[in-house]
Amino acid sequence: GRPMTRLLVLPGDGIGPEITEATIAVVRAAVGEGVAFEEMAIGEASLAASGSTLPDAVMAAVPEADGVILGPVSHYTYPAGQPNPSAALRTGFQLYANVRPCRSREGLSVLRKPMDLVIVRENTEGFYADRSMHAGPGEFMPDPDSAFSIRKITGAASRRVARAACEIAAARSGRLTVVHKANVLKLTDGLFLREVRAVAADFPAVTLDEVIVDAAAALLVRDPARFDVIVTTNMFGDILSDEASELSGSLGLGGSINAGDSICVAQAQHGSAPDIAGKGMANPTSLILSAAMLLDWLGRRKNDAALTAAAARIERAVDRVLDDPASRTRDVGGPLGTDAFAQAVVAAL
Ligand code: NAD
Repeated sequence: GRPMTRLLVLPGDGIGPEITEATIAVVRAAVGEGVAFEEMAIGEASLAASGSTLPDAVMAAVPEADGVILGPVSHYTYPAGQPNPSAALRTGFQLYANVRPCRSREGLSVLRKPMDLVIVRENTEGFYADRSMHAGPGEFMPDPDSAFSIRKITGAASRRVARAACEIAAARSGRLTVVHKANVLKLTDGLFLREVRAVAADFPAVTLDEVIVDAAAALLVRDPARFDVIVTTNMFGDILSDEASELSGSLGLGGSINAGDSICVAQAQHGSAPDIAGKGMANPTSLILSAAMLLDWLGRRKNDAALTAAAARIERAVDRVLDDPASRTRDVGGPLGTDAFAQAVVAAL
């Protein structure tokens, strides 16, 4: 028989448990008996049970699994000193490429303009205080009225994310845009830009253009079709991908993976949405599409056409369900709750 695909599921906080349950149902329906799920608690659930938002046993289980499905986490409200599981997985396993596709769908897009793009965001350094230092936080406060943030950009991290973006661009239209602020952040974004240019020069199928981040934010609204693949630093990618996702109809629509050389974590683009948690009304599309991206990543790595096909089937089923206004969730104007939406996707499969 076929080898079993073993997925580690980390439900997380807020709407995490609801959307991971919906995602498991869809992956199960698409892959069949060839997939096994192991669930472990992180976040507030593991803090209550074992005193840490990211138990050591979870970090040990990640490389043992074929892939990880990670729910959003409410790290903003964790007690001081508790790790952010999302950041710890990204840096701990060097998941350097956060790949976030986004596209317009008939009747859902805010803009009514075609958009079909992929944002490839550097994931391991940049402006994030929990990612920019080897020891200690990347933020400090020398006196009560001044605070500093360190933004770390390295050539090595820039090159590896640039390579990931070039491979994605080469498999699509070949158009890659590097988004930066090298006009002001001359050293850090200058270094990022220099490395992206050098890597792109090695990909004959890729043409590179360069856009400053503030203009990129405007162009996403004015002319989203001008972008195909975007590569950018951590915080710019975080913000622009939320913008693109919302323009496509909702933050709840865009899939996302955190990919390293040998480990991949599927993770919704959005946060834990505490305002709607526990109400069964969250849109699980983002995590479902993230899981499909993980299956596709695994299928390519393991040369397993069944997984790649399952990923494509999930994407088609989600498209079909979202096409019908009566089978949408509330964030995009429909009547369905989380479970009913997942069941509609399962039925479409
Ligand atoms: P959020 O993304 O959780 O929510 C923003 C808004 O979008 C809310 O109104 C929410 O209800 C809505 N929304 C988000 N996802 C939705 C979905 N799937 N279906 C329907 N509506 C959805 O951002 P926030 O409120 O700024 O942050 C909440 C918490 O999440 C914070 O603790 C933050 O630090 C954390 N966060 C975690 C991640 C992550 O785990 N990757 C990412 C972003 C924020």
